[in-house]
Amino acid sequence: MKEIRGLPGAKGRALHKAVVLTKRSPQPERRPVADPEVEIARFEALRAAYAGELRELREKALASTGQEAADIMKAYADIAGDNLFFKKPIKLVREEAVDAGWAVAQERDRVCRKFAAMEDPYMKARADDVRNVCDELIRRLDGEGALADDGEGAAIFVAEDLTPEDTVRLDKSRLGGFITERGGVTSHAVILAKTLGIPAVVGAAGILEAVRAGQDIYLNGDDGFALVDPDADAVAEFTRASAAQETVRARWREAAAKPAVTPDGHTVSVCINSGDTDSLKGFRADLCDGVGLFRTEFLFMDQDDYPSEELQYRAYRAVAEAAAGKEVIIRTLDIGGDKQLGYMDLPKEANPFLGYRAIRICLDREEVFQTQLRALLRAALHGYVKIMFPMIVTLEELRAAKAAVERARASLKAEGVPCADYVPLGIMIETPAAVLLSDVLAEEADFFSIGTNDLIQYTTATDRMNERVQYLYDPCNLSVLRAIHTVIQNGHRAGIPVGMCGEAASDERLLPLLLAMGLDEFSMVPAQVGRVKHFIQNTAFASLNCLPAEVLGQREIGEAKRILALYEKEGL
Ligand code: PEP
Ligand code: MG
Repeated sequence: MKEIRGLPGAKGRALHKAVVLTKRSPQPERRPVADPEVEIARFEALRAAYAGELRELREKALASTGQEAADIMKAYADIAGDNLFFKKPIKLVREEAVDAGWAVAQERDRVCRKFAAMEDPYMKARADDVRNVCDELIRRLDGEGALADDGEGAAIFVAEDLTPEDTVRLDKSRLGGFITERGGVTSHAVILAKTLGIPAVVGAAGILEAVRAGQDIYLNGDDGFALVDPDADAVAEFTRASAAQETVRARWREAAAKPAVTPDGHTVSVCINSGDTDSLKGFRADLCDGVGLFRTEFLFMDQDDYPSEELQYRAYRAVAEAAAGKEVIIRTLDIGGDKQLGYMDLPKEANPFLGYRAIRICLDREEVFQTQLRALLRAALHGYVKIMFPMIVTLEELRAAKAAVERARASLKAEGVPCADYVPLGIMIETPAAVLLSDVLAEEADFFSIGTNDLIQYTTATDRMNERVQYLYDPCNLSVLRAIHTVIQNGHRAGIPVGMCGEAASDERLLPLLLAMGLDEFSMVPAQVGRVKHFIQNTAFASLNCLPAEVLGQREIGEAKRILALYEKEGL
């Protein structure tokens, strides 16, 4: 038995045979070809077929794994179909009579070196896209198929890394869990695992060396390790743990159908986050209190140009109707940072997360903002829509955003277009600036939603994309906890509800504290709703009375975590 440690990506445990996916970047040899034109024709046929497959995968991703994977498939399809990009390798084949695989590898390496040297994390990520597309083309030119696995039955997939394309291609019915040598806990593959409810361990250096295909692996996504060839004791432990896990999951399913009320009558809302209308196909309004965050970026990313008012109106209206009278918080465009729009042609920035993004863009680009606001005000006639502005750091921004809503309403009315007379206007609290000004902001916002994904990053000055500083990106960081407490208190003093739509809203370590602090709304990926509701339904609100003072009184994060751990198990 060998133990390999990694990072806990997605929770759960599984024991299956290993399927090893080795997909290191191919390094083809330079080979002469007799007829360059025949080679070019072979390459172009393969490239066209691959681009077509990617377009199909995008549709598949939209239906199964979600918007994020679909966006990446689109980016891959764009690269595969980019004639300009492949002009140089084709010229190389033609002029030097060499094989296309080698020629593509030269261009891949040149472009990736260029991207990798850039500071911008977005550009670095583009290098991965180019590499993945070129690698697949080279493999196909060499007669190798895509990620090949034709076995049967559930398995633990072992790989160096899983690209978004891999996750779309993988046979989900066989995916019992996965473990990768590389990757971070917020990678797309981990999000997929969470969505599918399977365990995942990432950053497990040495796993490819330690395991052979067909060996048993016990994967523990709760604690972030794998046992290769587990001994009898480990198997017995797994059997016990999975029986217990199934019992707990059945309880969560039951809990999801009931309201989020503590035994002593404290009620909160448990809502879902959503990023696209397709993911709302499986949306069960009866199992949650509404949509706490609808990210509108997808609508913009999924297009080659700005989506029209009509297209946006239809999308927002569909969400509002699907929620069947429950609240839907629609966030205005939050582009910039790691989310870019090709057609917007934004300037390259040294610090994109501190740059031209979110509300800053909307306030600057009146026509883009007005189109979205008009669509939202029209859609608000079809359900309980609230509008939320991202990345607010000053009162001036909030006032300017609210004034823009008034202009949009006035223009609709002037044209005789039906629209909502009143729509609650709230803001995301994602920056220390907004936290420190939250008493003032609360007087003019109708609600707050704490965006911890960004708030942790900005409070701890930790780039959430940078693996080397991940240890500082901690939802239990005391400054972050103080910030959350301040926001809830200031919101309540002004009489407005305070929600949370960052990942921390379903972090089991924080649930007791957030509940005790009086958070009104917890919003999360749909798969977490049952667990969070179950915790709330089984935790007496009064029993948490002293928790905020106790935790916030600590000086070290470790101490705060130790106290939180005492409460974590309650309700399970
Ligand atoms: C957040 O920052 O917590 C948030 C929900 O917004 P996003 O993850 O879309 O940046
Ligand atoms: Mg954010």
